[in-house]
Amino acid sequence: MTVWEAREEGLLRHLMPRLTRVGETELGVVLALMEAQPVREEGDDRSLLHITTPRGDLSAAMAYRLLRFGGLVAPFATSIWDTRVPSRVKFFCWLMVQKRIHTRDVLLKKHIVEPDDAGCPVCEEELESADHMIFSCPFARSFWGRIGINVEGVSVSCLDHLASAASSAVGSAPEFAMLCCWHLWKHRNAVVFQGQRPSLARLLGSCKEDALLWRGRLKETCRIHVETWMQATALG
Ligand SMILES: [Zn+2]
Repeated sequence: MTVWEAREEGLLRHLMPRLTRVGETELGVVLALMEAQPVREEGDDRSLLHITTPRGDLSAAMAYRLLRFGGLVAPFATSIWDTRVPSRVKFFCWLMVQKRIHTRDVLLKKHIVEPDDAGCPVCEEELESADHMIFSCPFARSFWGRIGINVEGVSVSCLDHLASAASSAVGSAPEFAMLCCWHLWKHRNAVVFQGQRPSLARLLGSCKEDALLWRGRLKETCRIHVETWMQATALG
C-alpha cells in the first residue's frame, strides 16, 4: 500500500477489521492526522534548500558544510546536563523544560485522558500543564512562597530564570531549582497514583531529605549552600 492509495481509497480498506480498543484509539489519531493534512491540488515542489546555490545548482561545498554541521545545542541543555543531580532528575528536567512530561494537557493531546479529566489533580481548578503544576497551581505558589523563591513570570521553559531566582534566595546553582521541580512532580504523582492528599509539609520534608542526600555529589561551590536549602525547607 502506498501513501497515495491510503489517501485515495481510505486507510480502513487496507486494515483487518479486528482492532483492539487501543488499536481503535490509535487509528482515530491517525485518521485525524490524515484529515488535518489534506493533499494539495498543486504539484509537490521539493528542493534541497540548504545545499543549492541561488540559481538552484547543487553546491558540493554547502553539502559538505551541512554534513559537518553538528546540530544546535538547546540553551537550557548545559544548565541541566552539567549539574551533579541524579540522572533521573536531569531527564525529568530535560523533558519538563520542553513541556514533555506527562501532565494532563499532554495526556489530553495524546487522547489518553478525556477533557473532563484534564484538570489539575492537586487543586482541581484548570487544565494541568507543566507550568501550572510547577508554578501557577495555588499549591505550587504556596510552596515557592514558603521557601522564599520569587517565581513571578518564570516558566518551565526558562529553567535559567528559575535558577537565578533560586540563587538570589538560597544562594544556589540550578541544583536547588531542579530539586524543587522534581519534588513538586513526585508530590503530584503521589496524589494521582497513591491517592495521597496534597501536603506542603510532606513536600518540604522530601525536598529537605534529598538536599541532604545530594550534598555529597555536588560541587564544592554548591555544597556550601545545602545548609541554606535545608533551612528554607525546614518545617515550623
Ligand atoms: Zn493546580
